[in-house]
Amino acid sequence: MPKAIIVGGGIGGLTAALSFHAFGWKVQVLERAAELGEIGAGIQISPNGMKVFRALGIEDEIAENAFQPEALEMRFGRSGNRIFQIPARQAIIERWGAPYLHLHRADLVASLTRLLHARQPNAVRLYAECERYENTADGVQVHLKSGETISGDLLVGADGIHSAIRTQMLGPERPDYTGNIAWRAVVPMDRLGDLAPPPTACVWVGEHRHAVTYRLRAGQLANFVGIVESESWASESWTEQGTKEEVLADFAGWHPIITNLIAKAETHFRWALFDRQPLTSWVDGRTVLLGDACHPTLPFQAQGAVMAIEDAYLLAKLCSDEADKLSSALKTYFETRQPRTSQVQAASRSNAKLFHKHTPISRAMTYGPMWLAGKIAPGAIRSQQDPFYAYDVREEPLR
Ligand SMILES: Cc1cc2nc3c(=O)[nH]c(=O)nc-3n(C[C@H](O)[C@H](O)[C@H](O)COP(=O)(O)OP(=O)(O)OC[C@H]3O[C@@H](n4cnc5c(N)ncnc54)[C@H](O)[C@@H]3O)c2cc1C
Repeated sequence: MPKAIIVGGGIGGLTAALSFHAFGWKVQVLERAAELGEIGAGIQISPNGMKVFRALGIEDEIAENAFQPEALEMRFGRSGNRIFQIPARQAIIERWGAPYLHLHRADLVASLTRLLHARQPNAVRLYAECERYENTADGVQVHLKSGETISGDLLVGADGIHSAIRTQMLGPERPDYTGNIAWRAVVPMDRLGDLAPPPTACVWVGEHRHAVTYRLRAGQLANFVGIVESESWASESWTEQGTKEEVLADFAGWHPIITNLIAKAETHFRWALFDRQPLTSWVDGRTVLLGDACHPTLPFQAQGAVMAIEDAYLLAKLCSDEADKLSSALKTYFETRQPRTSQVQAASRSNAKLFHKHTPISRAMTYGPMWLAGKIAPGAIRSQQDPFYAYDVREEPLR
């Protein structure tokens, strides 16, 4: 049985482990942290990601504790006036073939871990920080910080935006700061009273900033993401906690649903949003990259983790169908996934412009037609999402 070593136990790495296992591989996930987990925040998993979980036979388990939005909508951040609202739930399943879920990140990682361990106990090793890899004549070796060496047939670098595997493969690189920071908070619904956010996936647009609200954990929690343009990112730390006052200042004058969410949150995480142009290679011998390690994606299309999920499944499928020709499988993986993820990276970038209109004229010219489309041709709004959600990675030809 071939063995895949997967560096990184995030959503991408865990889905890769489940995918390789499903295609008959032994897997070893190496995670540097003391435990598998995610920050206290929500994540949206769109139908294209859910199709992968369905293919792995874990769709129902992933959907436990999730929330399915009643509608997709856009509102003005200050007035709360609706620009458009289109039905979700069943309408999404009918159009795109799978549900659209809102999950707590910790729940998603816990489900993936539990499902993996049920299939292969001890698949994940913690406190295992990888420093470098080495392709050998018939395999690959990973050298851990502890001095230990682990060998396998394939190494998957799913170690996130600051990937050590990518740095070794392609040299040091600094991702570009996008000029945006993200605030994140989760609040129990019972603290929000009449000012709870709607049971939808709602984008609140504004000048130099926007917000996204949705519900999590079967509707018991409300999730807030606030994106604000900011010239500088002074802190060296990748993530840090800010204060309620700072977030309230960033969203001063916004609709009470937004300011109430901020005021009732106990913790306000601040993220700097970085971007990277598409890479020219993701493969070195028997070592291959996946997820944020090779295509970090701005959150404005809510597709970064979903791209890692798609990557994971296709990579495992290709490597298994062509196990004797691993190099051609890895080439096909890169050639298939790089254009897809580059398209999603570009769409995410341009959404930042769509959500932050700075003048009354640009707002009228952008949101006026969207308002009209929402009234008379909602299919036109849905069709904008077809390239993302209708995609089914299982249908990619093997070449
Ligand atoms: C504000 C915000 C909102 C977002 N919302 C969405 C959304 O709604 N939907 C969506 O699809 N995406 C969303 N994303 C993007 C998504 O969070 C990421 O694309 C996704 O989490 C990347 O997963 P990953 O597994 O590739 O990397 P990561 O989650 O970064 O995981 C990498 C793992 O590797 C480990 N690691 C790192 N280095 C080493 C090493 N040397 N040795 C061993 N282990 C190592 C880390 O500890 C970590 O566990 C959002 C992002 C942001 C910032």
